[in-house]
Order: sequence, then C-alpha cells, then structure tokens
Amino acid sequence: MIAVKSYAALDKASPLAPLDISRRAVGDNDVLVDIMYCGVCHSDIHMARSEWGPSIYPIVPGHEIVGRVSQVGASVTKFKVGDLAGVGVFVDSCRKCSCCKDDLEQYCDEGMTGTYNGYERDGKTPTYGGYSNKIVVDQHYTLHVGNFKAEQLAAVAPLLCAGITTWSPLRYAGVGKGHKVAVLGLGGLGHMGVKFAASFGAEVTMISTSPSKEADAKALGATHFLLSTDKEAMAKAANSFDFILNTVAAPHDVNMYLNLLGVNGKMLVVGLPPEDSKVSAFQLVGKRRGIIGSMIGGIKETQEMLDYCAEHNIVSDIEMVDMKDINAAYERVIKSDVKYRFVIDLATL
Ligand code: NAP
Ligand code: ZN
Ligand code: ZN
Repeated sequence: MIAVKSYAALDKASPLAPLDISRRAVGDNDVLVDIMYCGVCHSDIHMARSEWGPSIYPIVPGHEIVGRVSQVGASVTKFKVGDLAGVGVFVDSCRKCSCCKDDLEQYCDEGMTGTYNGYERDGKTPTYGGYSNKIVVDQHYTLHVGNFKAEQLAAVAPLLCAGITTWSPLRYAGVGKGHKVAVLGLGGLGHMGVKFAASFGAEVTMISTSPSKEADAKALGATHFLLSTDKEAMAKAANSFDFILNTVAAPHDVNMYLNLLGVNGKMLVVGLPPEDSKVSAFQLVGKRRGIIGSMIGGIKETQEMLDYCAEHNIVSDIEMVDMKDINAAYERVIKSDVKYRFVIDLATL
C-alpha cells in the first residue's frame, strides 16, 4: 500500500479537511502518478455534499488530474517514469461490454468506476480522487498530456472533465461552420464549450445570468451575448439556434431555453442540477426539437481532444488555489464567481 495525503469530506455537511489515505501497490498494468494539479469541477461539490444521492464517505473529490508518472508496473507500455499523465472522471470499466469495446467506457453496461465516489471493480474498495498527492491508475485509463507546454499544465487539468464533457456532444452533434450554437452558463464547462464551438467554426452566443461576463464571453470566442434575465432579448432570440449546450448546474426553467431553438434544433444537456426541470412536450413537438444528454467522453476521444487542444493551443482559463482554501473556492463556484475554473496546486498539500 502507498501512503497518500488528501483532502476529504467526512460527511455531506462537513468542510473538506486533511485526511491520510492509502492507494493500492502499483500492479503490473498500473502507473503511479504524482499529482501536480487538480481542477475543481462542480460535480465535486454535488458529490461532496450528496446532492445526487448518498455519496461514499470519506470522499476525496477531484477528477481533473495532471501529474508525473513516478512508477510503472511490469507490463506497462504506454508510459515510462517521468512522463506527464492525465486522469479524468473514471479509472476503470468492465472492458467487455459493447460500450467498452466501442471506446465509450463512460457508458459501460456495468457502470464505469468513478475516479472518486465509486468502487474498484471488486465492488468494495472505494476510489479516491485528485485532491491528493498520488494516484494509482491502470495505464489504459491514463491519458498523455506531454505535448502541452510546461507552463500550461495547470490549465490542462480541467480538460480532463470540463474539456471532454463539452467536446464530446459538440463533436457528436457535428457542430461546425454554418451552425448557430448557444452555450448556456459561463462556468467551467461553459467556457470550454465556447472555446470549442468557436474553434469548430460555429457562430457562438453565450447565454448567461451574469451581465458582468459579457466581455469575457466575447474574449473566449462568443460573437453574441444574451442575458437570460432580459425578457425582451430572450423573446427576440426565439427559434434562432441550431444547438444549445446546456451546462447549468442549478435548477432552472429548461423550457425558456428550448424556446430559443429553431426547427430541428437540439439541446445538448451536460449540466446535472440536483433537481430535474420539467420539459414541456409542446416545446419539443412544435418545432421538432430534440434533447440529447452526454456524459464526459471515452478514453480514445479524451486523448483526441487533448491532442487537438495541444495542437490548437486551447487550455482552460484558471484561478490557482491552495489546497487549504478549497472550501472557500467551493462557495465561489456556487455563486458562479470563478474565472473560469479553480485548479488546486497540489504542491500546497
Ligand atoms: P460551474 O462552473 O458552476 O458553471 C455552471 C454555470 O451555470 C454558472 O457559472 C452559471 O453561469 C450558470 N448557472 C448557475 N445557476 C444558474 C441558474 N439558476 N440558471 C441558469 N444558469 C445558471 O459548473 P461546471 O463545473 O461547469 O458544471 C456544470 C454542471 O455540469 C454541473 O451540474 C456538473 O455537475 C455537470 N457536469 C456534467 C458532466 C457530464 O459528464 N455531463 C461533467 C462535468 C460536470 P452564468 O453565470 O453564465 O449564468
Ligand atoms: Zn467533472
Ligand atoms: Zn463495460
């Protein structure tokens, strides 16, 4: 076993605090990653606080991990000691179902093994995430991030969740030149969604509840900014988009946004508010609109996204935070007050 330092919540109401944990010894197919940076995803908060149902405690959140390989198992061919490595939202899956075979491990029939708040394939060993200084992961579920510049590495971490989560549905939908795409919610996911949709050639509108974010939205690649509290502007924008990428983390009236889609328009849902909103059949039927959900992306697609980002110089816009300040960072995320992703510097743990 490998002794590891972490930050954990002991129950849904307590703030995160230091906790000593242990990782399994490095197996034949495993890599040991010394964690350098870990992004703070809103899902970390949802799960630390059991907002999606009871979590497994103690919980060590964190699934946007970048670090350096410090040990490899005997059968590891994908990495060598000293390589940079990334770990995202899952660290294992059944490897034999049709989803796993089709590089869609995130939709594994038996359920993916979450990087934290999950159990290893034995069904009883809890997994612990990246708010920690070391992690042991099977090589297949570990990503290459060595082609980014050294000074970009902290900003690469959020690509492992926020990046792939917005990349995958935009790619699946074939978003590109000639499409009018709205991104709903300018947070961690939303800011990556704007960057990708713009990079793919779409005309991007940022839909936000925060008037203060207009200039940033445009700097990120949006051509237009729509304030969702401006009733007149919302009425004018009715029936105008081909796609809306919905990244909202809090309960909201989804019908108000569906109304902005044109004929055959599709809402790509990635946000996971703790309470569902009720969809009006009339909003869908009247314009043959559709709703598609999407969860992160498979390992192959995540690597493609990372390689594209390295080539096109796309990383996250981040605020660095010390491990001890994580609870204050959570409060700011909840207030939609982060530009646009917190990343923990694990050197401060
Ligand atoms: P985040 O940084 O908190 O961003 C969410 C944004 O939603 C906020 O910045 C805010 O943007 C907007 N928003 C907040 N409350 C709103 C409301 N009541 N009505 C309309 N907009 C509101 O969160 P995140 O890390 O990007 O994650 C977003 C959601 O995606 C979370 O629920 C997370 O769990 C989920 N998620 C899903 C996947 C997946 O695989 N599908 C992966 C990762 C995360 P404005 O200030 O611009 O309004
Ligand atoms: Zn996430
Ligand atoms: Zn499977």
